[in-house]
Amino acid sequence: MKVMVYTQPKLPYAPDELSPAISQETVDFHYGKHEKAYIDNLNKLIENTEYADMDLEDIIKKSDGPLFNNASQAWNHIFYFFSFSPDGGGEPTGDLRKAIDDQFGSFDNFKNEFVEAGVKLFGSGWVWLAKDSLGKLFIVQKSNAGNPLTDGLIPLLTFDVWEHAYYLDYQNRRADALKKLWSIVDWDVVSSRY
Ligand code: MN
Repeated sequence: MKVMVYTQPKLPYAPDELSPAISQETVDFHYGKHEKAYIDNLNKLIENTEYADMDLEDIIKKSDGPLFNNASQAWNHIFYFFSFSPDGGGEPTGDLRKAIDDQFGSFDNFKNEFVEAGVKLFGSGWVWLAKDSLGKLFIVQKSNAGNPLTDGLIPLLTFDVWEHAYYLDYQNRRADALKKLWSIVDWDVVSSRY
């Protein structure tokens, strides 16, 4: 039996490079403290259990309670921080862009609907762009640690709407925080997930 120990992946950019969309202080706390804690907790919770040799996606699909919360939060945060680049922003191209235009009318309309879904999500959670096996797109709201993997969908992009993701920089202004993220989204990475 192989035993998994999850390690926190190093960010593909320096902690000050997402500024002004996300400040270095927020990256230091959010990646350095929050994400790290979820991964540390995940490792403690799977030790000597049937989950110790499972892939993270399988743990998310098969667990509940504290293990689900920490496994999914670990996955969500890694996915979130790897969706950004200091050279990001702009617009998606290729098949993903075509699907966005077909389903949402335009890229601007998609961005508005995505931010609105994040703003209207009550409490803590995540707003997702996900696709089904046929390539149909969905904007999905998930509370707390939720992830569209549990609905059989494939995640493409997520914005964290927990207050810890934006409060240091934007206080209560969640809409402003989410709109700023468009300037750092790495559409090459997001498109490669489509
Ligand atoms: Mn977070």
